[in-house]
Amino acid sequence: MQMRKVEVADPAPHEVRVKMTASGVCHSCLHAYDGSHPAPLPIILGDEGAGVIESVGSAVTTLLPGDHVIISWLLNCGTCPQCLRGKPAYCQGPSPFGAVGFDGTSRFTDVETGKSIHHYAPSTYSPYIVVPATSAIKIRKDMPLDKAALLGCSVTTGFGAVTNAAQARPGDSVAVFGCGGVGLNSIQGARVVGANPIIAVDTSDAALEMAVKLGATHTVNPKKVDVEKEIFKIVPFGVNHTIGAVGSVQAFDSALNVLAPGGNFIILGAPSHGDRMTIDTTARILTGERGMRGSKYGSSNPAIEFPMLIELYLAGKLDLDSLLTGTYSLDESNQAFEVLAKGSSGRGLIKF
Ligand SMILES: [Zn+2]
Ligand SMILES: [Zn+2]
Repeated sequence: MQMRKVEVADPAPHEVRVKMTASGVCHSCLHAYDGSHPAPLPIILGDEGAGVIESVGSAVTTLLPGDHVIISWLLNCGTCPQCLRGKPAYCQGPSPFGAVGFDGTSRFTDVETGKSIHHYAPSTYSPYIVVPATSAIKIRKDMPLDKAALLGCSVTTGFGAVTNAAQARPGDSVAVFGCGGVGLNSIQGARVVGANPIIAVDTSDAALEMAVKLGATHTVNPKKVDVEKEIFKIVPFGVNHTIGAVGSVQAFDSALNVLAPGGNFIILGAPSHGDRMTIDTTARILTGERGMRGSKYGSSNPAIEFPMLIELYLAGKLDLDSLLTGTYSLDESNQAFEVLAKGSSGRGLIKF
């Protein structure tokens, strides 16, 4: 990544321009950065951030300059049938990647070359961004904007996978495979709903330590033990809900194999394109009525979820402070990616 001088256009009628205060360093951006999930170039990355409204388009009636907002990376239209039924993740509008808003054009121009730059959904690594007003979710002004940024992707995704997608209930058993920025928040979601036991699986002892801090009751390190045997020692009849918050199909196989009858495996992680699971559908799916489904953005509706998670944070029930493991300036963002690539647990934050 390199620093470029970029002109950020005025917001169109239904858009807002946001002065960013902080942006989380996310695995999906790392995939674009290292080429494992190719993105069009040149591009400004960043899908997790918060800031202050700087200006609003002529048709915007819900936000004012000075409002504090968290950015929803969905960039949903707000008017299609899926948006109206509260499922913005299924928005039928154009893909937000490569453009912004719904006219298919970029809001970023490279000052030196005069060429337009692709958006990575909201492109929160730009100090100013332009997004549809529906993607800037207004929040309480007493919520610290750096912690708020984390709600823009990882926290909402991990937490919602347990509460919205799995719909875990008090006393249900939960196992989370992968305890990075997203998986740790699945652990928190499980803790908040009163799940028990909560089993954290990761190859890093540091990540497992963090998982315990955030609510895991048991830890399993697949580098040291047979992960499936170990989980069946903890829950002999299997786990009610497993969460795959890691990009590994081997972990996904295990997450399916340890399910109790009637259990559900929720997929959050993104293995490389072409990687395949091995599933004995008769033994693992049919006879025990087990299920497997993906969860995008924690199956959440950010306009409802962000303010709810903020209330949990301010009430001391959601831990965002422990998640923050490093802060960087914008010109240190390559370093932030390298730390993430090494498998750091918790979350790095770029502060503007
Ligand atoms: Zn993300
Ligand atoms: Zn829509």
